[in-house]
Amino acid sequence: MKNRKEEGPVQAAVYLRLSSADGPAAESDSIQNQRSFLQEWACRNGFVLVREFVDDGHTGTDFERPGFQQLSACLMAGTVRCVIVKDLSRLGRNYAETGRYLEQIFPQLGVRFIAVNDQYDSAKNTDSIQQMAVFKNVFNDLYAADASAKVRASLGILKRQGKFLGRQAPYGYRIDPADKYHLLPDGQTGPVVQRIFALFLGGASRTKIAQMLNREKIPSPSCRQGTDKCGRFTGLWNAETIRRILSHPVYQGDMAQQFTRTVNYKVHLRRRVDPAEWIVVQNTHQPLVSRQDFAQAQKMQQIRTYKSSDHPHLLTGIACCADCGSPLYAKRRGKYWYLNCYGYYRDPAAHCCTAHSVREDKVLQAVADALRTLAQGQVDLHLWAQKQLEKRQKGKTIQDLRPKWEQQLEIARRARLNAYKDKVDGILDEAEFLYISQTLRREEEECCRELARLNDQHAQRENVTAIEERARRFLQFDHLEKVQLQQLVRRVEVDERKHILIEFTFADPKKSSSHTK
Ligand SMILES: [Zn+2]
Repeated sequence: MKNRKEEGPVQAAVYLRLSSADGPAAESDSIQNQRSFLQEWACRNGFVLVREFVDDGHTGTDFERPGFQQLSACLMAGTVRCVIVKDLSRLGRNYAETGRYLEQIFPQLGVRFIAVNDQYDSAKNTDSIQQMAVFKNVFNDLYAADASAKVRASLGILKRQGKFLGRQAPYGYRIDPADKYHLLPDGQTGPVVQRIFALFLGGASRTKIAQMLNREKIPSPSCRQGTDKCGRFTGLWNAETIRRILSHPVYQGDMAQQFTRTVNYKVHLRRRVDPAEWIVVQNTHQPLVSRQDFAQAQKMQQIRTYKSSDHPHLLTGIACCADCGSPLYAKRRGKYWYLNCYGYYRDPAAHCCTAHSVREDKVLQAVADALRTLAQGQVDLHLWAQKQLEKRQKGKTIQDLRPKWEQQLEIARRARLNAYKDKVDGILDEAEFLYISQTLRREEEECCRELARLNDQHAQRENVTAIEERARRFLQFDHLEKVQLQQLVRRVEVDERKHILIEFTFADPKKSSSHTK
């Protein structure tokens, strides 16, 4: 190029192409961007751009494009002697065909061809070294994508064979030194797992078990893995750690993997996989608990979860102790749920309060009675609804969620377009592309659903009549709902003598209403 510079600027044509397959996401490759990129480059390198050939919205897989046809005609006629493109893929995505132009057609016509980003210049090297370099790059790209697909596929096969593929064995196990795909019970942590199951089956709650282990200073899974170093874990046992252990099939001798999955290879987004999609292979290693015990633990966990969702503690977060101000927490004793002073429970020895409790249903009844009384014409529902509306419009929590979903939607869309581009390029085969695009489409749909839901909620918020109507229905008290209750009741205080004081979220003519059990 140096010697050419001495001869003065080289007259050249540029060829710009935007593929419809590139999609709107290919902002960086827009015709305008390619043009200014090439103009700037030509200026710096002693070229004068005399012609421009454009194909806007044509894929690179064939050469039947109007812009390219015009360029070809000019090359044949000898009016264009030098062609510059941004990168080789602008010329075409079909590497075999592109190669024919580079190796045969352009040299035969004596045309100099430059692909700036690929550092390809036919005038620089007449032998095949330069071309080999270009095709090596292309090959490398193809090979890399192919290899990663192969790695993923073979990992899947190993998982399906029940081979353990983690870097660290699950708590209670260690990796077999003789076989890195095999687990052995760990002499130290294995018995801890067995104890957790025994305690839980014996009726201890997950929280109780966690407290017990913490008291005994038994290192928790996060402690053992050293994850607490980054400050994300306290290193203590908690109900969630216990729940995870109690529900992990590995302890009954089954290999369960793929709890999370990378959504695709471009956006490295990991998400939890539904338990139904876990890859589980039975009897791959020595169990720590029997199948019967494991099944029983699952049943008990389900019952507990079911019960807690079946019994929504409507007053949680609303009820508090009038004596010490602590929140009241619900605990079942026999047939009934009781609200207990958390101040006492947390530290009975501190004597900041006394052990007092009140039946949850009685408090709820009192709240319902008070609300019903108010409902008898004392509340201007319309006015109240308007106030609610004003208040909610000030809150922007819902609008805060929107950018998150919009952004996620955009990422998924862009990734799907990229995947399409890679299918066109042959980097992804049909099956891989289908899998990726379906996954991304599902994600897009989820984002759209969330956004629609936000819109719905927003619309609902605009409507005073709807709020009023909902309040009217609520005030019939057929069944209390937590959200509605929280809209109306700011605070319920219960003291040691079980006096109940209710504070409403709206102005009440009686200011507040006092009830005695
Ligand atoms: Zn108290």
